[in-house]
Amino acid sequence: MMIVMKETATEEEVEAVIENIERAGALAHPIRGARVTVIGAIGDVEQDVSVEGLGLEGQAGVDRVVPILKPYKLASSQITHGERTVLDIGGRKVGGESFALIAGPCTVESRDQMMQTARTVRDAGATLLRGGAYKPRTSPYAFQGLGQEGLRLLAEAKAETGLPIVTELMDIGDIDAVMEVADVVQIGARNMQNYPLLAEIGRSGRPALLKRGLSSTLDELLMAAEYILKEGNPNVMLCERGIRTFETAYRFTLDLMAVPVLKELSHLPVIVDPSHAAGRRDLVMPLSLAAAAVGADGIIVEVHPNPDEAICDGPQQLRSEDFAEFALAVGRAAALAGKALAGREPTLA
Ligand code: PEP
Ligand code: MN
Repeated sequence: MMIVMKETATEEEVEAVIENIERAGALAHPIRGARVTVIGAIGDVEQDVSVEGLGLEGQAGVDRVVPILKPYKLASSQITHGERTVLDIGGRKVGGESFALIAGPCTVESRDQMMQTARTVRDAGATLLRGGAYKPRTSPYAFQGLGQEGLRLLAEAKAETGLPIVTELMDIGDIDAVMEVADVVQIGARNMQNYPLLAEIGRSGRPALLKRGLSSTLDELLMAAEYILKEGNPNVMLCERGIRTFETAYRFTLDLMAVPVLKELSHLPVIVDPSHAAGRRDLVMPLSLAAAAVGADGIIVEVHPNPDEAICDGPQQLRSEDFAEFALAVGRAAALAGKALAGREPTLA
């Protein structure tokens, strides 16, 4: 259920409704919008906790009580009355009129590689810096990432460039170490339905970039986001990164239709990852421009100073020397959709 408070409702009236819901054993999630506060009241179907019959309609400050029609409640656009969630990552906005350019290597490989890439993307106007310390590899014999040492290098790159860090958490056992460095914790496509991991990230409150599973529907993606939101963490961005289809000419099929549809279904920011979808560098620019033009709230792309020598995902990583031009083009495409880069203005050196 969704309890829409009157514009004139006081904080005490909001608190009284929350108390009423919680006394019944249900979860209360207040969302304080610019005009009105909406309280999501979520009962536990299995334990037969219901918020109907609490008499919320008649309570002081309540305008109306309406059912939330989708199975995902807190992720649904219904709950924010069309207002979009804008995240603040170290002072940089993701969502709304801001376009996030998230860039960096696939994997942290060495100090030189990480620092060079960090400087390149910072100078080109990137919003956030990506880099994997724990890597989900198809083969157990492939390089699995530098782990703790990789995290240390990410911290160093952040200290020098000031760019907030996006890095993946694969295993709950590494959560403390990853949270020391991650401004945004990435949940990889293969972990989209790792529910204990999602709930733990939810409890941490840390902003999360949730990637769509390789064969997941948008409803499944939104239900996964719900696991994070339900624990009281509102800082979730959704990420389309390509899905499995019958097409074999490229690695995955980038589902750009997911962008407007997710934005219709949900208030959460939507990011696109063209690098992992394409698996090929030459496709990253056109897909990035398309993602920006179709209204994505940002893109996450891989960049490397020497992709031919990269340990992981070399063929798809943009070359550092091409990145400033890439950022300029993406900034222009984002402007078509009414957005501006949420970092420094990119300039060509
Ligand atoms: C990544 O971004 O490093 C990655 C492995 O992506 P995905 O989980 O989408 O495959
Ligand atoms: Mn990669």
